[in-house]
Amino acid sequence: DSFESLGIKEPILSHLIEKMRIKKPTSIQKLAVPNLSSKGSDNDLFIHSQTGSGKTLSYLLPIFSSILNMNERVDRKSGCFALIIAPTRELASQIYHVASTLANCCHYLVPCLLIGGERKKSEKARLRKGCNFIIGTPGRILDHLQNTKVIREQLAATLRYVVLDEGDKLMELGFEETVRQIMEIIHSVDLDTKMYPALPHRIIRVLCSATINDVV
Ligand code: AMP
Repeated sequence: DSFESLGIKEPILSHLIEKMRIKKPTSIQKLAVPNLSSKGSDNDLFIHSQTGSGKTLSYLLPIFSSILNMNERVDRKSGCFALIIAPTRELASQIYHVASTLANCCHYLVPCLLIGGERKKSEKARLRKGCNFIIGTPGRILDHLQNTKVIREQLAATLRYVVLDEGDKLMELGFEETVRQIMEIIHSVDLDTKMYPALPHRIIRVLCSATINDVV
């Protein structure tokens, strides 16, 4: 009944407990963290969860853990490992905030927020500097995937996790086709599994949703 028993190690562990004051995993975290972080676990994951259940950390913790557990020196130039898609700017900003707080434990990991509402030029500039996690809304992510060469270069080879957060809301808001196009581009990327061999050898897909229906 502790994060340690779920395989969360230093430096994340003390950061979580002392800085973020999060001491015990929620039930969704107990289920998701070992499933997503254990070595050789190459399964896609469906997280059936309500907001407030701790779902954000249930996928961010294992993703951060698997990157830190590979014991390789990584920094913002090492490539993008995870793409997290959220239905609204507000949710994307919240996820970005949690990812930034978590990344404070290891200053070399950098998340990047792509939500529009700001000049595309400044988003491009941030992408050019390099980042390890991209968090954003579907339209803006697809726009960059189609039009910003540097984002494709950063995803190629290193991308290992794609998260669709609030999948039910993504569908409700009419993002089905946009998400489909994003997934198509991502799956056309040539993964280099020799680079970071301790990470999964394919792109792991995580879907979070409060409800399950046919479209989801
Ligand atoms: P979420 O469901 O991801 O939106 O998280 C809802 C709230 O619960 C956020 O404010 C988190 O900081 C908090 N939280 C997440 N995990 C835990 C935990 N294990 N213990 C206490 N609070 C948590």
